[in-house]
Amino acid sequence: MSDLRDLYQDVILEHSKTPRNYRELPAADHKAEGFNPLCGDRFTVYVTLDGDTIRDVSFQGSGCAISKSSASMMTQSVKGKTLAEAEKIFERFHEMVTGHAPAAGNESELGKLTVFSGVSEFPVRVKCATLAWHTLHAALEGKQDAVSTE
Ligand code: ZN
Repeated sequence: MSDLRDLYQDVILEHSKTPRNYRELPAADHKAEGFNPLCGDRFTVYVTLDGDTIRDVSFQGSGCAISKSSASMMTQSVKGKTLAEAEKIFERFHEMVTGHAPAAGNESELGKLTVFSGVSEFPVRVKCATLAWHTLHAALEGKQDAVSTE
């Protein structure tokens, strides 16, 4: 992958146009705000837990195609998972987009999140792709301060 256009695969464009779970959760028991000043991406992530299982997760905000589609796909991949499972997916995803682990071999855990593997060739975009994940993490940790990627 050498062309920026290749980064914006159909599935990424589609999720950025029609993000999933894009709503406020009024009954959320965890929420956090995340901001990526480098790009201007800003999201709030809402979570409702059932014991240590993520019963519902959603987000709202604005950002570039990469950040928005990543947030959208994140909500789909962690919903119904336990906190430990969600943390594991985040670790794998982070390793993949920072180029520390190949997407190949991790498909079973990452599923369609592997469409973001090309992000590792565009370091500026890594913060876009991981913003929602860092924000989810902060929400679950109960952090009150907004998360910033800087
Ligand atoms: Zn961005």
